Amino acid sequence: MLARFIYCLSHSLQLYNLSADSDFHQKYNPPCLIFLHPVQGGMQKVATHNAPAQAKPHLFGLSLTALQAQLKTLGLPAFRAKQVFDWVYKKGVWDWAQMTNLSAADRATLAQHLDVSPLGIKVEQIAQDGTTKWLFTLADGHEVETVFIPEATRGTLCISSQVGCTLNCRFCHTGTQALARNLTAAEILAQVMMARRQLNDWPAQDEGRKLTNIVLMGMGEPLFNYDNVRDAIQLAMDPAGLGYGTRKITLSTSGVVPEIARVGADLGIQLAISLHAPDDETRTKIMPINNKWPVRELMAALRAYPLKEHRRITFEYVMLKDVNDTDAHADALIKLVQGLPCKFNLIPFNPWPGAPFACSDEARIEAFAARLSAAGLDAPVRKTRGEDILAACGQLRSESSGRNTVSLEFPSVVRVYGTADQRARLGEKVSVTFVED
Ligand code: SAH
Ligand code: SF4
Repeated sequence: MLARFIYCLSHSLQLYNLSADSDFHQKYNPPCLIFLHPVQGGMQKVATHNAPAQAKPHLFGLSLTALQAQLKTLGLPAFRAKQVFDWVYKKGVWDWAQMTNLSAADRATLAQHLDVSPLGIKVEQIAQDGTTKWLFTLADGHEVETVFIPEATRGTLCISSQVGCTLNCRFCHTGTQALARNLTAAEILAQVMMARRQLNDWPAQDEGRKLTNIVLMGMGEPLFNYDNVRDAIQLAMDPAGLGYGTRKITLSTSGVVPEIARVGADLGIQLAISLHAPDDETRTKIMPINNKWPVRELMAALRAYPLKEHRRITFEYVMLKDVNDTDAHADALIKLVQGLPCKFNLIPFNPWPGAPFACSDEARIEAFAARLSAAGLDAPVRKTRGEDILAACGQLRSESSGRNTVSLEFPSVVRVYGTADQRARLGEKVSVTFVED
């Protein structure tokens, strides 16, 4: 018989940080359900805004050239920038005190003028299949989620570009969140740095790293925060920075047409398009952005995208029962993408509490996939990963937005970070109830 337990976290808990292997983790390792209380306030959307200006710039937001310029203003030699980059991006060390080939005086100057603080880790959840989800806290208290998906030959990190999203796609849980603010470039890159720190992923050679791929498929619309996304990705790609190749990074967009060309020109990374319907009538019903940039305009931008040799555009297609999953939809898709190097990723809809859709039946998804395949299109059905921790697409930050009940139906490990003192306070506020199956 499976013993399951429920524990409740009050959303107002102020805890966390530090201590990777807390005894909390050891103790609360069994299958569990988690309920989190709703936050105050409504669901009204507000316009996207930028992060409040910080007193000192964060290192993760500075290119090598920008750091060199910064050092110049501080009266430090330019070569220090490369030394700092080696520590940070090659060794995973971003504590000034540990940068031992820098003089104490220079380290003090750097500490005074550059921020290197990590993101706070509120919760780390590790699913049975190894998928790991972090809830990170930002300096202003906002939270973002980042998910690591390990596979046999690669490890993919799904990062967020905004807190929430302004776009309201009707099948997407992120889209129903109240607030959206743009993440800074430093906050975007910090998700990669933090994940690698948590995964203990700083091998001597890049080839040996666990985190091999980055996808911008977390919270937010990356092309509504283009400049910051571009700066962070450029640092992730810079050989002096993290050195990820253009093949290893994928940006997913719901179709912000005017920005697509810039992605090609500035970054040349892989492009994924949340298409989800082949015609304006269906697409507008589920994705309001289609009102602004309809299918025809989107396809024209994609046909103009400078694809590198042997590369293809990926179309994400969420399978919604009786909405976009008929043979006629499949045939319309085949016609729509004719001649464009592309593949499809069929995503079984991940339901969330209150979602107005159901997932297409398995047989329907298979038939849909077979129809696309018969027309020569690659159309694998995406396996859902990390189901037990709601780490799947469109479900991010569902707990922290506090607007639903998150059920962990399968065993998972939940680590709540904190100092001994903070954990003691957690003990006061978390109620643990064991439930017998
Ligand atoms: N805003 C960007 C990137 C984040 S969403 C975009 O829309 O492309 C990442 C992918 O998850 C998108 O294809 C999105 O349409 C899909 N998605 C959102 N909610 C989902 C759900 N409930 N089930 C399955 N896929 C979903
Ligand atoms: Fe935003 Fe993407 Fe979700 Fe649409 S699918 S609401 S664009 S995160």
